[in-house]
Amino acid sequence: MTKFRFNTNCVQGTYQPKPGEPRVLPIVQSTTFSYDDSDYVADLFDLKVGGSFYTRLGNPTSDAFEGKMNLLEGGIGALALSSGQSASMFSILNICQAGDHVISSSSIYGGTFNLFDVSLRKLGIDFTFVDPNASEESILSCAKPNTKAIFGETIANPGMNVLDFEKFSSVAKILDVPFIVDNTLATPYLCRPFEHGANIVIHSATKYTDGHATSLGGVLIDGGNFNWDNGKFPGLVDPDASYHGLKYAESFGAAAYIVKARVQLLRDYGCSPSPFNSFMLHLGLETLHLRMERHSENARKLAEYLYAHPCVEWVKYPGLESDPYYELGQKYMPKGASGILTFGIKGGAKAGKDLIKHLDLVHLVVHLGDLRTSILHPASTTHRQLNEQQQIASGIFPEMIRVSVGIEDIEDIINDFDKALRAAVK
Ligand SMILES: *Cc1c(COP(=O)(O)O)cnc(C)c1O
Repeated sequence: MTKFRFNTNCVQGTYQPKPGEPRVLPIVQSTTFSYDDSDYVADLFDLKVGGSFYTRLGNPTSDAFEGKMNLLEGGIGALALSSGQSASMFSILNICQAGDHVISSSSIYGGTFNLFDVSLRKLGIDFTFVDPNASEESILSCAKPNTKAIFGETIANPGMNVLDFEKFSSVAKILDVPFIVDNTLATPYLCRPFEHGANIVIHSATKYTDGHATSLGGVLIDGGNFNWDNGKFPGLVDPDASYHGLKYAESFGAAAYIVKARVQLLRDYGCSPSPFNSFMLHLGLETLHLRMERHSENARKLAEYLYAHPCVEWVKYPGLESDPYYELGQKYMPKGASGILTFGIKGGAKAGKDLIKHLDLVHLVVHLGDLRTSILHPASTTHRQLNEQQQIASGIFPEMIRVSVGIEDIEDIINDFDKALRAAVK
């Protein structure tokens, strides 16, 4: 088959109709699939043949979405899930059990931090959170004999630091454990983590993948570039009694991780996407390249404007030349730095609240990655479950405003901010 470039894959990747079939990916809104031979269905259950038999485990619309996501990231297999949270959860549960340990960057999405620090800890999995700016030696010193993974975000939400892939992947290689990357904010258009040493990539597809704020979803993608048979991952090497003693690494080779995530975790936990949501997320991907280009361009222009504004204390955006993460941004995201920026408003939390009241075009929403520009005060909303110390460790300050810059005319976005900033900061 001809290999196409990234933008072509966004528009036309994976779904290929046969003569007479719909040109547009159909929504297969069926939980079940019809067969006329029970031996064939037995082979499906035994994983001897592929095919849909029950939508909890797979569905043609979700397959197409997974296929496109996998193609865009350059992985060897993907699994669509019901949310980004379930993708983060699966990425760990697929290789860790009670008694295991994970090293994670401390600058991660608040929901992921809670999942790790509260819910997975209750299952007996231990986490150490490291400052992403710490030296390689200092991160390595957090390792334990039971360490099973390293976790980070390409662009941290909302700390805005760019992940030092070289440093984190080097730690993972030394420890011989997989490097898991949440690539939600960058998307594969801006950054392809497998090219920088990641072994597993996850997404909240709810954000830029959808792009229109319609559907919740998550994706787990396997780079196929990690050898699980190193004595640390018995779940991938030893026989699985629930599949007549199947050994994932032996039977599926490089695809062992993603096969296990589907046939064991998805079977048992059931965080399956609705076919309708998979359709919407697949539709979103068709314009990912255009949207990410414009989100990045508008965010850079708004960041430059705010940086020079008398009512603004500071701006964090890795696409700004003055930003401490500019170099890492150029290295890993040369096409743009995505659409999220944060800034500190003069007058602190109170001015921040007033600002939101004076904006007309820009709405307050608990979301990001939507094509409409939106705004949020993280300390009082998304990160309110964290205490102040944890907030600061995650890069959250009281005066901080997070903007998800949309794809409207930048002049209109800037005018809205200008008017509201002048009204809020007196
Ligand atoms: C939103 C988000 C998640 C969680 O995704 P949901 O789809 O809301 O469950 C995980 N990681 C990052 C970086 C996010 O922004």
